Formats: sequence, C-alpha cells, structure tokens
Amino acid sequence: MKGIVGLAGAALLAPALATPAAAGETSPMKPGQPPKTPDEALELLRAGNRRFHERKPYVRSTDEIERLWTELASGQAPFAIILGCSDSRLSPEIIFDQFFGSLFVVREAGNVAVSPTNIGSLEFGQAVLGAKLLLVFGHSSCGAVTAAFDRAQPGGNIQAIVDAIAPFIATAATLDDAIVANVRGVQAQIRQRSALLRAAEDAGNLKIAGAVYDIRSGVVTFLDA
Ligand SMILES: [Zn+2]
Repeated sequence: MKGIVGLAGAALLAPALATPAAAGETSPMKPGQPPKTPDEALELLRAGNRRFHERKPYVRSTDEIERLWTELASGQAPFAIILGCSDSRLSPEIIFDQFFGSLFVVREAGNVAVSPTNIGSLEFGQAVLGAKLLLVFGHSSCGAVTAAFDRAQPGGNIQAIVDAIAPFIATAATLDDAIVANVRGVQAQIRQRSALLRAAEDAGNLKIAGAVYDIRSGVVTFLDA
C-alpha cells in the first residue's frame, strides 16, 4: 500500500486501509477549502462518519500529508467545534474521519457547558478561528448522564457534572432519552450563556447543532437537519 492513512484510519481494521473513499464522495476538509456555510460543515461531518462506520476511511497520499503538515504549521482553520464527552470511545477526529486541523475539540464528561473556560474555548473556536459549526456531541452509555439519571451523589467535583446534567433530563423516561435531552439542554445553555455564539448563530455564521454517537455501531445520529 502506497498511501499513508490519517488519524482516523489508524483505528480501523487493516483490510479497510486499502480501500479509499469512493470516487465522488465528499472529501475530508482540507486547509484552504473551508465550507462556505454551517450546513456544508455539517455535511462534511455526516460524510466523514459514514466513511468511518462503513470502514472506508479516506486514504491520503504521502504528498497530501506532507502538504497538510506544512500548511498546518503556519496556522489553523478548523471548520467545526466539537463539544464532546471525555469518554475514551468518543474521539471526534476518528469518528468523523478527519485529519488534524479540521476540528476544534472541547471535551468534558457529559459534554456539559458550564464553566467560563469551557464556554470561552467554544467562543474562541468561532470568533478567532472561524468555525462554522458547533456540535454538542453526546453518546450512548454515557457514564455522566447515567449518574444523573440514577440520581447518584458522587460528591467532590464530580458532583458538579451530575448537577449540570440533572435539570435537562428530569422528565426523561429512559437513559437514551436522557442522553438526547442532555445534548438539547446543552445546546440551549450555550445560546443562553454566550451572547457571542448566539449572535453568530442569529447572523447565520454558525450553527449550534446536536448529535449522539452509538458506541456499538459507530453511527452518529444528527439531531438537527
Ligand atoms: Zn459520556
């Protein structure tokens, strides 16, 4: 095999490495070719996740990797901000089949957005780096949401995570419902707590979307069209 596989490909089964993405399929984001709209950014993530769960990661040539490496050394222009859970199975670059430089990732257990530093990082991704999409990224079997759903009292600073999630899932009947409700709640909370991001969304420069990853199938369900 002549090509070098990017970060995403390294996590997949060896037979898939020799199978590049189908011709005509949306390519992974490349520096200098940013999506023009939030919806285009969302479509890049959809296409990347499709490649991932179909075990057909995009395969880059050595030349392409060298070019990306050189370009990224002089600056970054990630097209999406991902606010994901810290769970070790929720690696956004792998799940969305992206090279480094494409995603500005903020991760906290339960994908919560409470602290000023957390929300400040999200704002930096949009206001300074120009990302078009902010994806609140939850996942199945989330331990943080499970703790809140079970009304656990872990104490210490872990309690702050449970307390952040609890109001969003108060009426959820199942854990899966709670996971979606938490993503929805965090989306609303970001709009409430960040005038900057709310204004960017109102102006059409940003979309604050939600998604849930299924850790068994590898499929991401997007909650916003
Ligand atoms: Zn989690």
